[in-house]
Amino acid sequence: MDRRQFLYGGTAGLTLASMPSSRLLAQATPLFDPVGAIVPIRATPDRIFRTTVCLRPFRAVGPRLDAERIGHKLVVHNYGHGGSGWSLSWGSAQVVVAKAMEQSPREIAVIGAGALGLTAAITAQRAGAKVTIYTKDRFPNVRSARATGSWTPDSRIAMADAVGPEFGELWSRMAHSSYAMWQSYIGLPGDPVEWNDRYVLSDVPMAQFREAMHATEISGFAHYADRIADITPRPQELPTGSHPFPTAYATRNSQMMFNVADLAHQLTTDFLLAGGTIKTAEFFDPHDLTRLKQNVIINCTGYGARALFRDESIVPVRGQIAWLLPQAGANYGLYYKTVSVLARRDGIVVQDMGVDDRFGFNDANETPDIAAARTSVDVLAEVFAPRLPAAVRRPT
Ligand SMILES: Cc1cc2nc3c(=O)[nH]c(=O)nc-3n(C[C@H](O)[C@H](O)[C@H](O)COP(=O)(O)OP(=O)(O)OC[C@H]3O[C@@H](n4cnc5c(N)ncnc54)[C@H](O)[C@@H]3O)c2cc1C
Repeated sequence: MDRRQFLYGGTAGLTLASMPSSRLLAQATPLFDPVGAIVPIRATPDRIFRTTVCLRPFRAVGPRLDAERIGHKLVVHNYGHGGSGWSLSWGSAQVVVAKAMEQSPREIAVIGAGALGLTAAITAQRAGAKVTIYTKDRFPNVRSARATGSWTPDSRIAMADAVGPEFGELWSRMAHSSYAMWQSYIGLPGDPVEWNDRYVLSDVPMAQFREAMHATEISGFAHYADRIADITPRPQELPTGSHPFPTAYATRNSQMMFNVADLAHQLTTDFLLAGGTIKTAEFFDPHDLTRLKQNVIINCTGYGARALFRDESIVPVRGQIAWLLPQAGANYGLYYKTVSVLARRDGIVVQDMGVDDRFGFNDANETPDIAAARTSVDVLAEVFAPRLPAAVRRPT
């Protein structure tokens, strides 16, 4: 997740620098669509039920999706999806499973049971293979369980100067096919995937706010929103006084959300019901894979691939979430100051995004910073601070 996702929808949208702000807004609608009742989030530190840290497995050249021979095994890699692993998972699975199926294997081994492992395993089953997942950890103990849970297909996916246009083409195919697959999870019991509204709140006019946000993009990450403009809703500016937030300026947009606890349960159940098996195993060296009975292996070890495959091109990008207790009726996201909030069914995700996009880069510290978690919740509390008439507020 990065701040662009909030500003311009599912992903950053159209190139910030090149696009006049008026074109970023939706066409005027004939009827005003008012903001409905907003359930205030109870943003107090006593409601933080956990603080988690996750490392995005970032590679400047984008995810590794090639195949190699290790002994007599074919190993197809599927790791290094940065801040986009959930979003791109199905599309990535299609690419790697097609490479694995070139051998027409009856059986496939998948290493890892995070977002990329589960979706690759299900995709391989659908292609006709009998699949066994071998993994050190399962949900909820995998890093994928600690993601924001938003449709963010180009968040920290590559460095612009390290990839060519062919990666943009591949990314576009993966993003479109993932998006289509995720729509088939909408409306299922438990709402593993749903759409909800996101608000960006600002004390300065939105054009000025966008300029300021543009200035926070320093690292040179690749952005591809223009390639999925056909499937990306556009934000609407909300007229002053038409929304309940304390800021003068606000936008609203719709974005896809993953309720990760339920989604992981659904994917695991689907995999097992289709005859899949999950076995606990840890691998310490690529040659350990040659001991598996399957001759075709899909490697979905995420950040774990750095140690397992000695792949130092994987850079950790740290992100921390303070989880507030879920609240009935709170089903929206917002962005205020440097804090992003997403009210999911399985918890309200509160995350400091830092002052610029270098935040967390090359930081492998997975120890939660409790003070920082409380500070981010304090920022959220400003949005919902009681606004009582002065006469009521003043002590008598
Ligand atoms: C704070 C934060 C917020 C994020 N928000 C979003 C978001 O909103 N949307 C989005 O799309 N993405 C988001 N991401 C990115 C996303 O979480 C990752 O891209 C994704 O989790 C990577 O999934 P994975 O399956 O590759 O890795 P993991 O979830 O780490 O799974 C790896 C699996 O491999 C196993 N494994 C690893 N090494 C070994 C080994 N040696 N032997 C055996 N098994 C092994 C592990 O046990 C695990 O099962 C976010 C990331 C962070 C840090």
